[in-house]
Amino acid sequence: VAIDPPCAIRTTCPYCGVGCGVLATPDGANGMTIKGDPDHPANFGRLCSKGSALGETTSLDDRLLHPQVNGERASWDSALDLVAKKFRETIALHGPDSVAFYVSGQLLSEDYYVANKLMKGFIGSANIDTNSRLCMASTVAGHKRAFGTDTVPGLYADLEQADLIVLTGSNLAWCHPVLYQRIVAAKKARPQMQVVNIDPRRTATCDIADLHLALAPGSDVALFNRLLAEIQQQGALDAAFVADHVDGFEAALDAASSCDSSITGLSEAQIQQFCNMWISTGKVVTVFSQGVNQSNAGTDKVNAITNCHLATGRIGKPGMGPFSVTGQPNAMGGREVGGLANMLACHLDLENAEHRSAVKTFWEAPQMPEEAGLKAVDMFRAVGAGKIKALWVICTNPAVSMPDADAVRDAIAGCDFVVVSDLTADTDTAKLAHVILPATGWGEKDGTVTNSERCISRQRAVLPPPGEARHDWDILADVGRRMGFHAAFDYQSPAEIFREYAALSGIAGQLGRDFDISGLVEMSDDEFDNMIPLYWPVNAARAGGRFFGDGRFFTPSGRARMLPIHFRTALTQPTPEYPFRLNTGRVRDHWHTMTRTAKSPRLSQHLAEPFVELHPAEAEALGLKPADLARVTSPQGSALLRVLITDRIGRGQAFAPMHWTAQYASAGRVDALVAAITDPVSGQPASKSAVVQIEKY
Ligand code: SF4
Repeated sequence: VAIDPPCAIRTTCPYCGVGCGVLATPDGANGMTIKGDPDHPANFGRLCSKGSALGETTSLDDRLLHPQVNGERASWDSALDLVAKKFRETIALHGPDSVAFYVSGQLLSEDYYVANKLMKGFIGSANIDTNSRLCMASTVAGHKRAFGTDTVPGLYADLEQADLIVLTGSNLAWCHPVLYQRIVAAKKARPQMQVVNIDPRRTATCDIADLHLALAPGSDVALFNRLLAEIQQQGALDAAFVADHVDGFEAALDAASSCDSSITGLSEAQIQQFCNMWISTGKVVTVFSQGVNQSNAGTDKVNAITNCHLATGRIGKPGMGPFSVTGQPNAMGGREVGGLANMLACHLDLENAEHRSAVKTFWEAPQMPEEAGLKAVDMFRAVGAGKIKALWVICTNPAVSMPDADAVRDAIAGCDFVVVSDLTADTDTAKLAHVILPATGWGEKDGTVTNSERCISRQRAVLPPPGEARHDWDILADVGRRMGFHAAFDYQSPAEIFREYAALSGIAGQLGRDFDISGLVEMSDDEFDNMIPLYWPVNAARAGGRFFGDGRFFTPSGRARMLPIHFRTALTQPTPEYPFRLNTGRVRDHWHTMTRTAKSPRLSQHLAEPFVELHPAEAEALGLKPADLARVTSPQGSALLRVLITDRIGRGQAFAPMHWTAQYASAGRVDALVAAITDPVSGQPASKSAVVQIEKY
């Protein structure tokens, strides 16, 4: 797509779920210049530090340029024959559930769709899960409980139209910077707009907050339960909306009314101020992210929030609604094409016999699993226990990013057969693989992604694939054919895959699902090439827009569900031996395990090494001075981190970023400190509630 400036190509940023449009102009030397796309509806030309440095991240210095088998260069034919043979033999000997795929929210929807089809429809197991499990699985589960489907009700424009934005568990300023910029601009234009930031830490997002509530870590349910009780007491209930469209109000209110809001550690005046602001403002959007999701009560937190919006009818209308912002560029696309172990493509449910049958017929699949597969944490436990004997990791680095990362690393090291598809052979996980396959990365890949507001955008190739690198959908389809599934995996292009799942989505729409893009099924290759960003659904009945403003939900009754939510404490509690509550998260200028962002000197200048934030009084008690090294130890593992002393964090708490790997700081692997505890509904790890001791190194 040639536009002004000449030769710029419209694509999307590969980092966070904002999904900004990018204009990338190749420089002819494997680099490119980067600008924000003024016509993309997510960012209107804005970019953050990470997005604008993309041109510094495309060097081929550490790129894997050809397949490797047991550390030796191999041809594609020999490598893929070996992968197909090992998976076939393992399945024949031990059954389909003895193999697994672990994939990524970095994949494009077309890659994701083919991986999901191969595992669920043709291998016959649901053992495919994704690092999106670590990102937003609690939101998926909460949406499905409340709405009947995993539907994001609103749009980014609601953030600009709201009179009150409540950010909870979300450091938007660093983790979704362009959305933050949009709120800053909206607040400047309408100073009466108010922002509440709910976060145990005083993060950069507090710069725009009219009220910061530094609640006790993990106590969000108690705050939103109190809000629900206040909604009732202050007469703010939308009784007509509830009567016509919502089930479960009384039970939800009973649970909320019995909840002790002092658990939050906030003063009664603070709680009352928050409730009064929320209740007295019609146009309110509650934005939530990993501080809500990454918890042993993550799904409950999501439903405590949706309860308040359903009780007031503040959903699916301009400037109001609950709003999940996803961490990854295509976490939403993965959800849409069935990348989670408990979902089918197009928001169909694996455990629903009618849905299963529809997908099996559509795919002409030989078999379909009837039960959910292993979710990420359980998948790696099964690898460690020897139950998963062949594992394919695609575009992610679980030996660093999973909780209890040392145990996950050891489990992968002990697995009979491990395949990794990635950009480099230097990741902690790739070093453990028997077969490493060179995949294309951002700037080379071609397909679609969906951002946090249901906007499907094209990610386009700006550079040719380096060396022998191939696209993930192509590698997966090739293995599918070598396993004997020729017709089902005879794909020639991402456009062909897109049309296939658009057709499947039409069937999903007939079954009452929300994800119906059947209006795009006739899209030609040229139209796919030139596709502009569009919001789903896209079908004969409607195009884009908000969901639920009309009071129609996707449950069997068509009514939304409020749920009784009871506060549950974190399963790990500080002890005399491990007295600090460790919160993990992102920094502004690095992304995940730094495979790409570490290549940019500009990005590494912001925060150059792994660190732990501590309150001044705690540092003094431990004899720690600024920039000392500290040994941080949990029951699971240990890390060596630079001490950053700040009153942004409360007493008894610590914060450490998750990015550093053995490649960049061998002692800085922070997820080695996190226990593999999960939310019982969503299976999402509680990555923000480790307990640690800290001592001077
Ligand atoms: Fe990329 Fe997110 Fe920054 Fe936009 S806000 S440029 S999508 S990292």
